[in-house]
Amino acid sequence: NLKIGVVGLPNVGKSTFFNAITNSAAAAENYPFCTIDPEESRVAVPDPRFDWLCKHYKPAKEIPAYLTVIDIAGLVKGAASGAGLGNAFLSHVRAVDAIYHVVRAFDEPDVIHVEGELDPIRDLEIIREELRLKDEEFLSKQVAEREKDVKRLGTGGNAADKAKKEEYEIILKVYNWVKDDKKDVRHGNWSNKEVDVINTLHLITAKPVIYLANLSEKDYRRKKNKWLPKIKAWIDEHTPGDLMIPFSVAFEYSISLMSTAEEKEEALKEAGVPSMLPKIIVAGYSALQLVYYFTGGPDEVRAWTIRKHTKAPQAAGVIHTDFERGFIMAEIMKYEDLHELGTDAAVKANGKYMQKGKDYVVEDGDIIYFKFNV
Ligand code: GDP
Repeated sequence: NLKIGVVGLPNVGKSTFFNAITNSAAAAENYPFCTIDPEESRVAVPDPRFDWLCKHYKPAKEIPAYLTVIDIAGLVKGAASGAGLGNAFLSHVRAVDAIYHVVRAFDEPDVIHVEGELDPIRDLEIIREELRLKDEEFLSKQVAEREKDVKRLGTGGNAADKAKKEEYEIILKVYNWVKDDKKDVRHGNWSNKEVDVINTLHLITAKPVIYLANLSEKDYRRKKNKWLPKIKAWIDEHTPGDLMIPFSVAFEYSISLMSTAEEKEEALKEAGVPSMLPKIIVAGYSALQLVYYFTGGPDEVRAWTIRKHTKAPQAAGVIHTDFERGFIMAEIMKYEDLHELGTDAAVKANGKYMQKGKDYVVEDGDIIYFKFNV
C-alpha cells in the first residue's frame, strides 16, 4: 500500500489541505471512504472512465482506486540535526513513497510565519536542505560501515566480494552526489544497477515530489501571484521536471465543507475557477508509478491498483493469488472501445475483444476478465 506524505514548514496550510482532501472524499457519496487514523486519509482517485463504467454496468458495488495521504507535521529548520521533533518527522518522511511539498505563497498578517516575512523561495530551500541533509547523514553512515568491510576484502576476491565492492562504489557515488553536488537523488542519471542499489536505501530525496503552491483565495481566483514565477524558476533550476500545482488551501477547504455536490458545483461556478483537488490527487497517484485496470459487471465495478509495467498474471494476483497461480489468459477490452461502441457485445462483434497471455503488460484503463484454472 503506497503512500504520499504532506510536507512543509509550519503554518503553510498542510493540515487544512489534508482536511480539505479528507472532507471532499467523505462527502462524495459515490466514493466510499475510510479513515485509518487521524493522520492518514484514503481518498478515491477521480476518474471519468470509472464513473462511466459505473453508469454503464449499474453495479451493486462501486470501488474506485484509492490514494493514501499522510499528514506529516512539524518539519522545521534544523530538523535534520534534531531541532523540534525533527528526527521523528523525518523518519515519517522516509516511510512514505512520494511527497506533496506545500509551500506558502499567501500573505496573511494573522497567520504567523515561522521564519518571519513571507518568502516561498527561502521556505523551499529550507525544506529541501533538511531533506537532503537527512540523506547525507544516512549515506555517510552507510559509506563508513561498508568502507571497513571493503578495505578488509582487499583486491580480487570471489563474486560475492566483488558485488559488495560494487555496491560500495555506487553508494559512495550517490553520497557524493548528495553531499558535494548538493543534489536530490531523484535528479541523478543512474544506471539500472545503480537504481537497484538506490531502491534498497529508501532515501528521502529519491522520492517523487509534487510542489503545491498555496495561494490566497483572491490570488487563486484572479490567477495571479507575484511569487509563482519565482517558484517556477526555482523548480526549473533546482529540481527540474518536478510538477508544481498552484491552488488555494482556503478555497479548497471552504468548498470541501459544503454538504452536497450541487452546492459545490454552484460555488465553483460562482467563483469561476475549478477545484484543484482532483488534479492534485491524480498527480499524486501517478507519482507513485501506479496505474489501475478495471473489472466490470452487474455485481461490481472496481479499479485494481498495480505498479506500472505489471504483467497479466501478476495483475490477476492482485484480485486473488489463485488467479495468478492458475492464470490461463486475460480477456481485455480497451476503455475507449467500450466507450465508443457502447456494449460488450459490440466490442466483440468489432473484433476488439482481445485475448492476451502471460507476457501481456497490463495498461492503465484496461477492462479485464481473467480466465484461470482452480
Ligand atoms: P500547517 O501548520 O502547515 O498544517 O498549517 P495549517 O493548515 O494549520 O494552517 C495554518 C493557518 O493558516 C491556519 O490558521 C489556516 O486557517 C491558515 N491558512 C491555511 N491556508 C490558508 C490560505 O490559503 N489562506 C489563508 N488566508 N490562510 C490560510
